[in-house]
Amino acid sequence: MMVRPKTEEEIELLRENAIIVSKTLAEVGRHVAPGVTTAQLNKLADEFIRSHGAVPSFLGYEGFPAALCMSVNDVVVHGFPSDYVLKEGDVVSVDCGTLYKGWQGDSAYTFPVGEVDPETRRLLDVTKASLYKGIGAAVAGNRTGDIGYAVQSYVEAQGFSVVRELEGHGLGREMHEQPGVPNFGRRGKGTHLVEGMVICIEPMINAGVKSVYLDRNGWAVHTSDHKKSAHYELTVVVRKGRAEQLSTFDFIEKDPKINF
Ligand code: MG
Ligand code: MG
Repeated sequence: MMVRPKTEEEIELLRENAIIVSKTLAEVGRHVAPGVTTAQLNKLADEFIRSHGAVPSFLGYEGFPAALCMSVNDVVVHGFPSDYVLKEGDVVSVDCGTLYKGWQGDSAYTFPVGEVDPETRRLLDVTKASLYKGIGAAVAGNRTGDIGYAVQSYVEAQGFSVVRELEGHGLGREMHEQPGVPNFGRRGKGTHLVEGMVICIEPMINAGVKSVYLDRNGWAVHTSDHKKSAHYELTVVVRKGRAEQLSTFDFIEKDPKINF
């Protein structure tokens, strides 16, 4: 499959947008707490994105009704913000997309609500670590299967499971470009990674079984056993030797006010 790498000028615009997305996730994280509704968090993200000269790209995408996907506990991805009131021990996966100067941004983070139980804490830690394992394999000369293998082998060794039905993707003027980037796979298989390709890597990891089902609303993806799921996503540029991150969790993890 031929995937056109991005030019350095295009990458600069994608980088500017990736920073807006990263800051939006941190803005949401500052307000995640017991007693807050996911609709309230969505509203402040929508305003934050627009105040930075971008547009929430999920809103209206194939009919999606909100700026953010807000996926609580057993919802893997694509949950609707709602009047659900977050409570101590929940986890909420926040997925944010923005359009800026014609280019897309897309990243996600799973926040604990207050104090979570030790197994949930481990799920969050393992899922995020698996994302960085994937990024470690996103180098020129590798293939998408190397990324999937890196994620899957790490996650399964920790006793958790990888959702198969959804995957990462290329990013550019469109939210979902080629190549698809599965979170499972075999080394040396899949699309060749070329310097300048911009991709989103986004492991969706379940505490229990890997199988999922689609909610009657046609969007929210639930774990079949209703155990918790976590989702972290970053945008990277494929480079020689080491991928370059465009989005970052630093705005979240260097802010002492955010519980992560
Ligand atoms: Mg996303
Ligand atoms: Mg994505």
